[in-house]
Amino acid sequence: MKSFREAKLTRKIPFARVACGENELAYIKEVLDSGWLTTASKADAFEKKFREIVGAKFAYAVNSCTAALHLALEALGVGPRDKVFVPTITFTATAEVVRYLGGDPVFLDVEYGSSLITPEILKEAINRHPNVKVLMVVHFGGQAAKMVSEQGKGILDICGEHDIKIVEDAAHAFPSKVGGKVVGSIGDVTCFSFYANKTITTGEGGMLTTNDKSIAERAKVMRLHGIDRDVWSRFVSDGVSWEYDVVAPGYKYNMPDVNAAIGLAQLERAESMRKERERCARYYMKHLSELDQIDLPLLHVDTKDHAWHLFGIILNNKAKVSRERFIQLMNEHSIGTSVHYKPLHRMTYYRDRYNLDVRDFPDAERAWQGCVSLPIYPSLSDEDLEYVCSTIRDILE
Ligand SMILES: *Cc1c(COP(=O)(O)O)cnc(C)c1O
Repeated sequence: MKSFREAKLTRKIPFARVACGENELAYIKEVLDSGWLTTASKADAFEKKFREIVGAKFAYAVNSCTAALHLALEALGVGPRDKVFVPTITFTATAEVVRYLGGDPVFLDVEYGSSLITPEILKEAINRHPNVKVLMVVHFGGQAAKMVSEQGKGILDICGEHDIKIVEDAAHAFPSKVGGKVVGSIGDVTCFSFYANKTITTGEGGMLTTNDKSIAERAKVMRLHGIDRDVWSRFVSDGVSWEYDVVAPGYKYNMPDVNAAIGLAQLERAESMRKERERCARYYMKHLSELDQIDLPLLHVDTKDHAWHLFGIILNNKAKVSRERFIQLMNEHSIGTSVHYKPLHRMTYYRDRYNLDVRDFPDAERAWQGCVSLPIYPSLSDEDLEYVCSTIRDILE
């Protein structure tokens, strides 16, 4: 009998598949040949290139996006009982890092169709919770939230007026843009993920970017045990190399060079891979638009400004099959799907700790009842996409 994992990999159309080129292996070999496998020149080069692409002054490679989010909140001074806005539709990492520091997430409903926080949702939430210090924005699926807006106020303006700092969870959003700005140099801090199934990968990994020098300095020191290398190098001009100073109880969040080598190769193809995912998204939008039983993603940005990490459809109340049955039937046709996400207000820990009620999250609930994510990655051919679309039409007929 096949294991679950094997069954997943031998599906005709798996939910996700990594696209590796030749340079991944070439750069890994350079690391192995160097005799030094952890953080060194490849991580430096990866940071430099990433900084250039997103236009941020500082970029620090870390071993996960979760680590980057933790460092971001720590650098902003979030502490016990501080409140932080978190959208209810996201991965648990976005909220758990608030708890690492003893803070309390305040969960927000999201817009139906985009699963994004909007300026309207934010304004209303600030009225109810005037003492929140930080907003976590999740650029859901790779579409950036309305950070800036031509008509009226964007999320940046509203947070500026209320002295709320912004941490962007851009785990889905590399590369992506909104209002002519590149995600990675918009809010106070931005965190990216290079987990195995994200838009670019290092196996496990993440990046923190910022334009703020004091946030950058704190994150850099806390990334590696609270060791202050600058203090160290200032006092060690005579070549004594064993000495270093510790200024805080930091973490072990650095990215090894083996992973950074993969990241460097993936960066070279980030935009071409994004274009291939955009091709998949356009195919789905064209060939599924006639089906009145499903709602397609609500777009605020141009398709070329979208990272297209996910393509989520929502089975609406006209659908004759349940979401669970739909997923099962897709699976029987050897097509992998996923669900993004079961909202955090439904998770035991958050629900019980904060007495959360589903009625406070009507749009997230409506999305959650019917949401299904379809395969979207560069190696999907037009025949593959047609097979997915025709299977969906057959199931819904
Ligand atoms: C994947 C993901 C994370 C966590 O990323 P890691 O690199 O696995 O730590 C955080 N937030 C969102 C929205 C994600 O999808």
